[in-house]
Amino acid sequence: MTVYALETSGLTKQFAGFTAVSDVGLRVRRHTIHGLIGPNGAGKSTCFNLLTKFLAPTRGTILYEGADISRAGPAEVARMGLARSFQISAVFPHLTALENVRAALQRRRGESFDFWRSDRILKRYDADARALMAEVGLTGWEETLAGEMPYGRKRALELATTLALAPKMLLLDEPLAGLGQEDVGRIAALIKRAAEGRTVLMVEHNLNVVASLCDVITVLTRGKILAEGDYAAVSANPAVQQAYLGE
Ligand code: ADP
Ligand code: MG
Repeated sequence: MTVYALETSGLTKQFAGFTAVSDVGLRVRRHTIHGLIGPNGAGKSTCFNLLTKFLAPTRGTILYEGADISRAGPAEVARMGLARSFQISAVFPHLTALENVRAALQRRRGESFDFWRSDRILKRYDADARALMAEVGLTGWEETLAGEMPYGRKRALELATTLALAPKMLLLDEPLAGLGQEDVGRIAALIKRAAEGRTVLMVEHNLNVVASLCDVITVLTRGKILAEGDYAAVSANPAVQQAYLGE
């Protein structure tokens, strides 16, 4: 069995002749927190879209847990345990926090989400939903409308809805974007906890958090891998420093 949760080779994505991701060979070891960093426009989100099959690669292969998912669809890789969160928070604002988590649990069971279902049916997911909310520190927020939660709590809720899918691997696109200092610490701690027994690949601009959370870091610039290693090695790399100065 491979030691890699995710392994790409020659991964390439072109948009109308522009190469956003170029010949990327990314290898993410199982049960590590792997950071993907780089200046704006480097191709990080495009990589995520390729890995989760929201975009089809122009060239290249993707292995997930040793299985070739190059031609799989997004629903199929999601069923295989690869879950993502988006750069922009994606919760239903008009549902309460608890209803959001119940809806996510329901989606996982393959039932389509139906807002008009009777509360009695949704209650089936109540205990699991409350446990997930406790896991991300949201006990007491159950009845608050998601749209009325402070931003940091909304990100925690989003993490709960992602964990509701029982993923083996989490792809987090800028999970700390827009958060204040206190929330950064809180969400970083949640990510560390969520990573126990899982593999995490995260795009993040907050380098202090990357330094403290990530076992391995891949630096992407202009669609290509510029450097790879632990934080000390990557941050001491002159080419990496140059790439960040030019941002
Ligand atoms: P990052 O997440 O590292 O900031 P992105 O992956 O979002 O970078 O974008 C990489 C490059 O690809 C950018 O130059 C961006 O403008 C371009 N790009 C991304 N998506 C598309 C698209 N759907 N069509 C055309 N160009 C795109
Ligand atoms: Mg991005």
